[in-house]
Amino acid sequence: EEDLSLLRAHGFEDEDEVDEGAPPVLAIVGRPNVGKSTLVNRILGRREAVVEDVPGVTRDRVSYSAFWGGRKITLVDTGGWDIDVNGMASRIADQAEIAIDLADAVLFVVDSTTGPTATDEHVVRMLRRSKKPVILVANKVDDERGELQAAELWSLGLGEPHPVSAMHGRGVADLLDVALETLPEVSAIDQKREEGGPRRVALVGRPNVGKSSLLNKLVGSERVLVSDLAGTTRDPVDELVELGGRQWRFVDTAGIRKRAKQSTGADFYAALRTQTAIERAEVALVLLESNARLSEQDVRIIKTVTEAGKALVIVFNKWDLMDEDRRWQLEREIEQDLAHVSWAPRVNLSAMTGWHTDRIVRAMTTSLESWDTRISTGRLNAFLGELVAANPHPLRGGKQPRILFGTQASNRPPRFVLFTTGFLDPGYRRYIARRLRETFGFEGTPIEISMRIRE
Ligand code: GDP
Ligand code: GDP
Repeated sequence: EEDLSLLRAHGFEDEDEVDEGAPPVLAIVGRPNVGKSTLVNRILGRREAVVEDVPGVTRDRVSYSAFWGGRKITLVDTGGWDIDVNGMASRIADQAEIAIDLADAVLFVVDSTTGPTATDEHVVRMLRRSKKPVILVANKVDDERGELQAAELWSLGLGEPHPVSAMHGRGVADLLDVALETLPEVSAIDQKREEGGPRRVALVGRPNVGKSSLLNKLVGSERVLVSDLAGTTRDPVDELVELGGRQWRFVDTAGIRKRAKQSTGADFYAALRTQTAIERAEVALVLLESNARLSEQDVRIIKTVTEAGKALVIVFNKWDLMDEDRRWQLEREIEQDLAHVSWAPRVNLSAMTGWHTDRIVRAMTTSLESWDTRISTGRLNAFLGELVAANPHPLRGGKQPRILFGTQASNRPPRFVLFTTGFLDPGYRRYIARRLRETFGFEGTPIEISMRIRE
């Protein structure tokens, strides 16, 4: 059965959304208790958004859509992540580092009632090295008296402090105006791949599935990675790997290695890294552990890929540990939990021994070709004509919605728009999707079908 969530039955309103880029990303960084969560809630215009801070609990929600001045931005909230595992300073450094990686601009929040601390200055140095635009927010300026204290923050060397009261809303609108001026129209993570350049791959999966082992295997030499790690400067975010005679850009490999070294408390960062890597990639290799039961987290990661509209390859690692019993079990789990992505190629391999790792290239290539596919309008309408002739939409209240015309609005992934005289039943839309796959393949790519109803 096809995944219904991919068959988004839109109305008219999303017509223009089809080819828009990802909205720019604004990250909010600062010490604990400076008011980051309060500010995020204020911007989102709701109170409950980021209140559930249970230490050690993985929140999979790390970014939020916000609207200001008719534009959409993605807010990344680093508030409430301050689970004290590695000591405060290092957590804040982690936040800043993540913000650097994925933000188009950073809101750096300082508590104006306490003034800048040593930790603030440490983060300032990191932010400055990043060369990303930073907007300095002097929070807790609840009244005019506070403005004076806010002015002291000039000393941070980040330019003008913007006084706000996240709690009462004072100055927040002006702050957002400044943020919008600073942000690009489209997020830098969405920049188009140069034609003919290396394709971008995200290697994702929950901790310990073997991501760094596989990366090491693909890169070919563990020593390369070790010497990289020994450097004092930040690891390069991406790594170019030559496979099957062409180059591939594995995105956020620094994150993969880092994750492997971190222990507890890293879940939250891992979730964010996963999300970002998928957004930056064209194809995602989702690693699963063949010898452990498929988990909710596995399914969630796959869902992130399909919802982001990226090409997908499912990799079952640690196949060297496989035995007959587990194999039967796994088949059942796949039928149950992965039925909605039955179109994705699967590769069984062992990152440890290297067995079948050479099959990854073919799978990625297949998925990407599907992802790139464009079906001409003529072919599509011939297909739709035959489909309707063979199996028309069931009558509903004496009426029968007709498909007038179809076109592929875009590729990467393939998105189809059907112009109809009425709402098509979900079952019928699933049937169309199934027939599209039977006819055109689309192995390894999600497809979207939307409707435009012409009365
Ligand atoms: P975070 O740890 O940086 O996310 O900080 P929170 O948003 O949880 O806020 C920490 C504390 O500062 C809370 O008690 C807030 O109520 C308080 N706070 C946040 N913003 C303001 C503000 O603008 N004015 C005042 N007076 N207090 C604030
Ligand atoms: P990551 O957290 O996803 O990067 O996972 P790692 O690459 O660090 O691997 C986690 C553990 O699984 C390590 O102890 C690896 O040696 C082990 N491992 C990785 N791949 C395989 C494999 O194919 N077979 C077996 N038996 N163990 C593996």
